[in-house]
Amino acid sequence: MKTRGYAATAKSAPLIAFEFDRRALRSNDVAFDIAYAGICHSDIHQVREEWGPSIFPMVPGHEIVGTVTSVGSAVTKFQIGDLVGVGVFVDSCGECEECLRGLQNYCANGMTGTYNGYERDGTTVAYGGYSNKFVVDANYAVKVPANLDLTGVAPLMCAGITLYSPLKHWQAGPGKKVGIIGLGGLGHMGLKFAKALGAHTTVFSHSPSKESDARNMGADDFVVTNDPKTLAALPANFDLILNTVSADLNLEDYLRLLKIDATLVVIGLPGKPYSVGAGTLLSKRRSLAGSMIGGMPELQEMIDFCGRHNILSEVEVIKADYINEAYERTVASDVKYRFVIDASTF
Ligand code: NAP
Ligand code: ZN
Repeated sequence: MKTRGYAATAKSAPLIAFEFDRRALRSNDVAFDIAYAGICHSDIHQVREEWGPSIFPMVPGHEIVGTVTSVGSAVTKFQIGDLVGVGVFVDSCGECEECLRGLQNYCANGMTGTYNGYERDGTTVAYGGYSNKFVVDANYAVKVPANLDLTGVAPLMCAGITLYSPLKHWQAGPGKKVGIIGLGGLGHMGLKFAKALGAHTTVFSHSPSKESDARNMGADDFVVTNDPKTLAALPANFDLILNTVSADLNLEDYLRLLKIDATLVVIGLPGKPYSVGAGTLLSKRRSLAGSMIGGMPELQEMIDFCGRHNILSEVEVIKADYINEAYERTVASDVKYRFVIDASTF
């Protein structure tokens, strides 16, 4: 299937127009025309090889929504014309304990990333969502509720699920005090979900200009983190803090804000290790944890939750030729709050 997209051809090279073929439809596949693709900071980390060697040319993009154009003979879940979404992975082994529990994101044999990796045949390079068409095994696609404004849906497929999953796992809800560090693509979804689940929610941000947006999205408190004394003055009363920051951060400053038995979840992936003092953890039986996206059943649950609560990402819709500038602005924390590419411009 002839496909037009944008690719990085080498480490940190600007993305350029790129044409390639996608596979012909298999019996379990669904093919769709992409409407929008979100720009996740993970795309930038990988184009810039901040996580180690990448595969080039790379067509990034793992926040993908569109409309089904054809379905394989064995597919019952989708019909032509349905709205469909694809996230961070397009396959998994399907046999390990994690896959059998619906936690394909933690597949013991490794999930197949939507891009910057090989498909399970070990030779076909996976190309992502910065493109106009997509083909995927229908088991790795979700149905998108028709009432949602599609421009704000693509980011739910990564940013959305990545915050929904830990909020559910660590039981954010009424009576719980939740902190979200970083009001970017992931963080603003965390704020919306934490509020929809009924938690008291504090945003920690190094961008004072984001306060009014945070309040409009429901934040109960907004803490500017530029002055370390501000954090030091806060009491240890949080049940759950989610760190979505894409850069190095002193986790100690936030661990100290956890009450007894509370948890700090690492979600941002800056590449360098964090440093944590044992005393900070053991003095209040605190936990330091991590969380990575979510499995297919939870991805469908999250998007259905968004349908019921009309939860969408705040987006700035761009044309394909703006991708490189959007990368620079994202790195500068100048994104409100997710760039989404209009796939008709590829
Ligand atoms: P993003 O839109 O760029 O947001 C990151 C936010 O972090 C910024 O908006 C900013 O918020 C804050 N920040 C950035 N630089 C900072 C600095 N030097 N000091 C303090 N705060 C800073 O990125 P994203 O797409 O949300 O992704 C965030 C991170 O999560 C990335 O590392 C990404 O790779 C990772 N990620 C992880 C998963 C997972 O499954 N765990 C999934 C997707 C992405 P303020 O301006 O409010 O401070
Ligand atoms: Zn992502």
